[in-house]
Amino acid sequence: MSKPLSDYDKRKQISVRGLAGVDNVSDLKTNFNRHLHFTLVKDRNVATKRDYYFALAHTVRDHLVGRWIRTQQHYYEKDPKRVYYLSLEFYMGRALQNTMVNLALENACDEAAYQLGLDMEDLEDMEEDAGLGNGGLGRLAACFLDSMASLGLAAYGYGIRYEFGIFNQKIVSGWQVEEADDWLRYGNPWEKARPEYMRPVHFYGRTEHHPDGVKWVDTQVVLALPYDTPVPGYRNNVVNTMRLWSAKAPCEFNLKDFNVGGYIQAVLDRNLAENISRVLYPNDNFFEGKELRLKQEYFVVAATLQDIIRRFKVSKFGSREVVRTDFTCLPKKVGRAQPLDMYSWICMLPEALERWPIDLFQTLLPRHLEIIYEINQRHLERVASLYPGDMERLQRMSLIEEGGMKRVNMAHLCIVGSHAVNGVAQIHSDILKATVCVRLCGTRDTHLLSTYTVITSIPLSITHSTSIPLSITHSTSIPLSITHSTSIPLYINHSTSIPLSITHSTSIPLSITRSTSVPLSITHSTSIPLSITHSTSIPLSISHSTSIPLSITQICVLLSQAAPGYHTAKMIIRLVTAIGEVVNNDPVVGDRLKVIFLENYRVTLAEKAIPAADLSEQISTAGTEASGTGNMKFMLNGALTIGTMDGANVEMAEEAGEENLFIFGMRVEDVEALDKKGYNASEYYNRIPELKLAVDQIAAGFFSTKQPDLFKGIVDMLMHHDRFKVFADYEDYMKCQEKVSALYKKPREWTKKVILNIAGSGKFSSDRTISQYAREIWGVEPSLEKIAAPDDLK
Ligand SMILES: *Cc1c(COP(=O)(O)O)cnc(C)c1O
Repeated sequence: MSKPLSDYDKRKQISVRGLAGVDNVSDLKTNFNRHLHFTLVKDRNVATKRDYYFALAHTVRDHLVGRWIRTQQHYYEKDPKRVYYLSLEFYMGRALQNTMVNLALENACDEAAYQLGLDMEDLEDMEEDAGLGNGGLGRLAACFLDSMASLGLAAYGYGIRYEFGIFNQKIVSGWQVEEADDWLRYGNPWEKARPEYMRPVHFYGRTEHHPDGVKWVDTQVVLALPYDTPVPGYRNNVVNTMRLWSAKAPCEFNLKDFNVGGYIQAVLDRNLAENISRVLYPNDNFFEGKELRLKQEYFVVAATLQDIIRRFKVSKFGSREVVRTDFTCLPKKVGRAQPLDMYSWICMLPEALERWPIDLFQTLLPRHLEIIYEINQRHLERVASLYPGDMERLQRMSLIEEGGMKRVNMAHLCIVGSHAVNGVAQIHSDILKATVCVRLCGTRDTHLLSTYTVITSIPLSITHSTSIPLSITHSTSIPLSITHSTSIPLYINHSTSIPLSITHSTSIPLSITRSTSVPLSITHSTSIPLSITHSTSIPLSISHSTSIPLSITQICVLLSQAAPGYHTAKMIIRLVTAIGEVVNNDPVVGDRLKVIFLENYRVTLAEKAIPAADLSEQISTAGTEASGTGNMKFMLNGALTIGTMDGANVEMAEEAGEENLFIFGMRVEDVEALDKKGYNASEYYNRIPELKLAVDQIAAGFFSTKQPDLFKGIVDMLMHHDRFKVFADYEDYMKCQEKVSALYKKPREWTKKVILNIAGSGKFSSDRTISQYAREIWGVEPSLEKIAAPDDLK
């Protein structure tokens, strides 16, 4: 029998640009075998799949090294203005495939793997996700790093190297169960420890005021040990650095009370200091107020600022190395006059606002609290000069909240201290201006606010290079800039190519998922996660599913994680799985409706599930979702959106034409009007029979026969204290779903809308956001000089 065509051969036949790096194949094989032998210390008799993954990862990484060193050398010599992106979360996902794509190595690696008798997808599946984020905020940081490298900005990501990332979610008997994410267990081939750049970070202690200045003394020191991860740009030979700090106890930690037996205890106590970088807080849009979290925040900022200043001081002029001591030009090299830009994920939901209790601050960072008091005093003096004699206003506008426990309002501090604050979507900026202005400046007049900061509105976005379906990035090598127009025909496929992973992980017969008449709707961004917005919008679609008129067949897929301590969100997940158990086994419903909860939502699952969707449900109550980025990923991947006029849905409708989305429900003004009038859930419950039926079924234990009042709490919440007023949108949502069903029966019209959506998604490329940021806020220019390709491996 003749050998079947490899993917590589097939691709060679259809490739429009030819294959980059064909010559590399034999080199790659050689290096792969060399790494298997010398790095993994294995031969092919005993090597596991994971060994093969590591050998491949090291082989690919070798191609990064020369570019990485050259890029950093280039920055050192040219000394451009740097961009520093500090974040507590970098939700990177996997590195292997992205690196191969960005270095144009994926075809050659595919072929090398094939010739070695290995399956590329198998190997890729051995890589742990770098799950150092909860959701949108962390994923955005990852997309931004990607775009900053692709645009050739001298940029650095700074964060924490959590030993445990976002927990792994298991669904056990319908319930969410968390497992620790031990992602570093087998080692991480992408990172390089840099102990030579370790920095001390101080905590606790007290201040001493002397005539010549203030001293912070008797502190506890924790060392910040950096680990560098390469961030390759898209085929431009740029490799930037993400530097993540890990906490290390100093050698003398607790040893000063050395005595008999004290030594062992002191060594054991080192864990306490090192706990700072142990685990990511699994809270999205929620402020828990834990001391360890404040430690994490200060740890990353203090270590990073020291690193920035070290880099600023040492610079090269021509062939001469100098040590800079004059700091007045720091703003020219870093950020602007006040070198701080803040994203604002604040203010949409009050429970997300960081408000640190003064006592906690005083104990952990006494000197910093004094400085905050000083900033507050200057702020209040400014207010007093604008509104003389208005004592009541002064009290209201203080950065330090009085009344009950005294707290530092971090959002207000951020506005007073930053030169620009970004609203993440137009609707968010407007709400931000209105609410923050009134709270912080005591007036709707933006004058005082504008003396502190500009509130900009640069919309959020996603990287297009990795957000398009894997099948596309693999099968074509379309340059990023034209990804849009040229890739459209390749993935507009009405029947959707549902990844097998979905059909596998559930017991849905393949025939259903294959059927071309199945709209696969992914209720994702509206997903239950962590944020209450999300969790309470779920019942809208869930209860809809229970009363769905089965005129067309639907598979409803839900993805989300509940914060471990968030009871309501967990109950909603339980409700989804319970509905699935009933609906998916109901002989009358048959194959016309399936409700599937996919466990362990994360970057790699998003990459598979999102391209499979026909319909994306983005159904938060208007004014509660700041932007969303999941909505954009679905749009780019050929799903149509059913959604409210909230977050970035507004801009999506603007770009693609409102008639090409399924927009329903209250606008922000309607919600405000309803608030004034008073929201009464039972009014809708009594008036809308389908809603009543759905709620009654859930309440009566139809989905929980063994425990009829399992969902009593949820029904109670929906009927009596639903801050999100979801029933008010219910009727319109139902009608809108009928429009979806009607259009789905007309594939040509549906497809036309899909094409218009994809064509309109360009604005949501993070390359656009970053260019805009660089120009309008950071005042940095992409490097025009090309970084030459290294001949690393010759
Ligand atoms: C994009 C993304 C998110 C954010 O989704 P939203 O719908 O905007 O909340 C969360 N998690 C993962 C894994 C993502 O890829």
